[in-house]
Amino acid sequence: MKNSEKQLRDSGIRPTAMRILVHQFMQDQSSAVSLTAVEDNFERSDRTTLYRTLKTFEDKCLVHQIDDGTGIPKYALCKHDAVEGKHGDLHLHFHCTQCNQTTCLTEHRIPTISLPDGFVPEDINMLVKGICDNCNL
Ligand SMILES: [Zn+2]
Ligand SMILES: [Zn+2]
Repeated sequence: MKNSEKQLRDSGIRPTAMRILVHQFMQDQSSAVSLTAVEDNFERSDRTTLYRTLKTFEDKCLVHQIDDGTGIPKYALCKHDAVEGKHGDLHLHFHCTQCNQTTCLTEHRIPTISLPDGFVPEDINMLVKGICDNCNL
């Protein structure tokens, strides 16, 4: 796995100490995290700084935001090689109703959907709810 500093540079983000730490934290997560979860991990940093850091990552397509229906946006790292300013990988997301975790199913791409004439898709968010492999033992 490429180190955080290099990934930030590759995405056109100046690698400040804070950004590197947040990126490393994101790398350690197995499921998507809310801003609150990031805050809890960086107790001495203020919410605005953390929010801006995530926002910068999102603008540069280093992370993507996931709406999992809980009303709390979650963030996860994008797995594709960063193409500056473009979210390249549209994959399914899974929200487990038992452990409440939201996971990127990066191997499972959103199928091409057809729209009526005149409709132009800009973003597709596909979420599957159910029981994850951890809870389904
Ligand atoms: Zn689960
Ligand atoms: Zn995802």
